Amino acid sequence: MQRRTFLSRGGAAVAAVSPVGLAWADAGPSVSAPWAPPRALAPVRAVADRLIDISVCTRPFRPQGPRIEAERRGGKTIVHNYGHGGSGWSLSWGSAQFALPMVLATREKQVAVVGCGAIGLTMARVAQRAGLRVKIYAKDRPPEVRSSAATGVWSPDSRISTEEHATAEFVQRWEWMARASFKTYQSLLGLTGDPVEWHDGYVLSDLPFDQPLPPPPIEDIEPDYPDLESRIRELWPRSVPLRAHEHPFRVPHVRRYTQMVYNLSVYSRLLYDDFLREGGEIEHREFEHPRQFAGLRERTIVNATGYGARALFGDASIVPVRGQTARLIPQPEVNYNLIYRGHNLVMVSRRDGVLVQAMGERDFGNESVEPDRALSEAAVQRLAQLFS
Ligand SMILES: Cc1cc2nc3c(=O)[nH]c(=O)nc-3n(C[C@H](O)[C@H](O)[C@H](O)COP(=O)(O)OP(=O)(O)OC[C@H]3O[C@@H](n4cnc5c(N)ncnc54)[C@H](O)[C@@H]3O)c2cc1C
Repeated sequence: MQRRTFLSRGGAAVAAVSPVGLAWADAGPSVSAPWAPPRALAPVRAVADRLIDISVCTRPFRPQGPRIEAERRGGKTIVHNYGHGGSGWSLSWGSAQFALPMVLATREKQVAVVGCGAIGLTMARVAQRAGLRVKIYAKDRPPEVRSSAATGVWSPDSRISTEEHATAEFVQRWEWMARASFKTYQSLLGLTGDPVEWHDGYVLSDLPFDQPLPPPPIEDIEPDYPDLESRIRELWPRSVPLRAHEHPFRVPHVRRYTQMVYNLSVYSRLLYDDFLREGGEIEHREFEHPRQFAGLRERTIVNATGYGARALFGDASIVPVRGQTARLIPQPEVNYNLIYRGHNLVMVSRRDGVLVQAMGERDFGNESVEPDRALSEAAVQRLAQLFS
């Protein structure tokens, strides 16, 4: 275990959502934003009694990256697609497209998908689009799945592998999946309810962006993660530094970035409804052992159980990384995101609420999904200070 270099790069909160494309640390010559009058940004009504939901989820992190491979077991083909760390939503389309040839190679026309989170639902849609009949088996479905507690931003490189496991082959596969996902997400813009949209965001910092933050407490240490962002940086606008008259914040260092946001309630509903409309079936089912797959009528089964694969398949390499998100009552007029570097604060304005994320202590390896209200209330308080 080494110090979390990402903490010094961007702050804990930044790493939590991995807003790729910010690139403040290596922005090169200081390209200033074109002159613009101070942005009149609607303030967030950041008070704890407006909190309407607090959700906790464990990122299914595997140091070696997601497991996407086929195996034969008990006369069935199991195509594994799990272990996407903090990048499950972002990589979901690419990951499913990567797994699809393994499914098609079995020549089965009916397939089962076990799991109904970001990965299972998207896998089911990709298989349907390839002409297959799909049945989902899962013990939970949205909004009860862990995926529903995510922040909901494009973060394909967030806790996706450790640096030491980022071989050339891994990086090439990751880049392929990230590009394929990004492409699909652009086709989901402009739909009713805005399942996917782009927002401006502001990174605020008390220290210059090239100055590292103090190291985290020893108990918050995480492994070093690879720098993957540079592989796909041309996909979206780069962040730009703003001068004092170009933003409304009383913080000395501010950069504006642009970020893809997933409105998870409506987006999950879209995936789910499309799945049913195209003939998909869903059955409530909990498996205690893969032996129970023998009872399924399908002979090809995609395992998209996320963190559940740790118990179901005995995959002890999956590390839980706890994360908590809270939502304030929606404010449609707040159409931007915020990151306060070094203050463990991320805000994403989604259609289903103003999402406030704060990291707790000892999130890495922590499998507790008990909400900690005090943590979210403290984050809301820090947010309020930005508008006072
Ligand atoms: C706080 C936080 C913020 C995040 N933010 C982002 C973000 O902004 N962008 C991003 O891309 N990613 C983000 N992530 C990561 C993302 O949420 C995960 O990578 C993703 O949810 C994993 O999806 P999944 O479908 O594999 O797992 P899950 O959502 O856990 O789904 C697993 C499915 O399998 C089923 N299942 C499990 N075990 C069994 C069993 N034994 N029998 C039957 N069914 C079973 C479950 O019921 C469920 O339906 C975030 C994570 C956290 C914690």
